[in-house]
Amino acid sequence: MKRLALTGLQPRLPSPVHEVVDSRFGRGGVRLVLKRDDLIHPELVGNKWRKLVPNLVAASGRTVVTFGGAYSNHLRATAAAGRLLGLSTVGVVRGQELGERRLNPSLERCVADGMRLHFIDRATYRRKAEPETLAAVLRAAGAEGAYVVPEGGSNALAVRGCRALGEELRGQADVVAVACGTGGTLAGLAAGLGPGQRALGVPVLKGGFLGDEVRGLQAEAFGGPRGDWWLDERFHFGGYARTTGELEAFADDFEERHGVAVERLYVAKLLYGLVVLMEEGAFAPGATVAAVVTGAPFEAQPASR
Ligand SMILES: *Cc1c(COP(=O)(O)O)cnc(C)c1O
Repeated sequence: MKRLALTGLQPRLPSPVHEVVDSRFGRGGVRLVLKRDDLIHPELVGNKWRKLVPNLVAASGRTVVTFGGAYSNHLRATAAAGRLLGLSTVGVVRGQELGERRLNPSLERCVADGMRLHFIDRATYRRKAEPETLAAVLRAAGAEGAYVVPEGGSNALAVRGCRALGEELRGQADVVAVACGTGGTLAGLAAGLGPGQRALGVPVLKGGFLGDEVRGLQAEAFGGPRGDWWLDERFHFGGYARTTGELEAFADDFEERHGVAVERLYVAKLLYGLVVLMEEGAFAPGATVAAVVTGAPFEAQPASR
């Protein structure tokens, strides 16, 4: 039954690869292509499709519980997936105290997609991986026995799901660059690339912890390190969902040049980083660089229902 529902999703896979003619790359003899994961599915966008679908299959009809902040793309994607597949979903949301009644547009969308929200304080949220805390949270949320997807959606199944992203890009680029939150997408991507291809991760969170996370996720998913990847940690712009006038102007300009909507939490920082790296001479003349468009702007998505 669930298998039937899944085929109803009709993803566009492999996602298309579009070349963009950008003088900042062209004058250095470098080709820039966009791997359009934002076109995989209109409502279950980008890397969220690759990460969530294997987990939803594993849930086999159980309620799906997951975790996120008030602006989490992952929470929205899980809610949309639940509606599309007829699974009930519970979102455990960090740090919104009880009594704070107004939902932001991102959480409103979650609720419209049928997700039940459960708010917990930041201290509890930090301890959610501890078995006792998790059990207490699930009990309080009325979700005992549910299938739990971790914050950001990165577990072994998700990482293995992202390996296909790398496999689709074999022979198509020398460097494949992706913006990172939890690093799950990079961990899978790097494992799927062919010999001689390298993956670059651009973290959007501050902190310098991502290298260990990616190694840990690869160990969990594949039993050890895979692929050739590195991180450039200079382009977080102050942290998750932080931005600057310069980044906004850059993203507006990129949209105008190339007619592609630029998701601002992740993709804008990736593209900005690639232009800086290009100016620094990080890519050899004759190279092809693929930027993974992991998502679409929230506002640009059609109102679902
Ligand atoms: C969630 C998300 C990411 C981050 O993926 P991770 O696997 O957590 O690193 C990147 N880009 C977009 C648009 C996302 O929504």
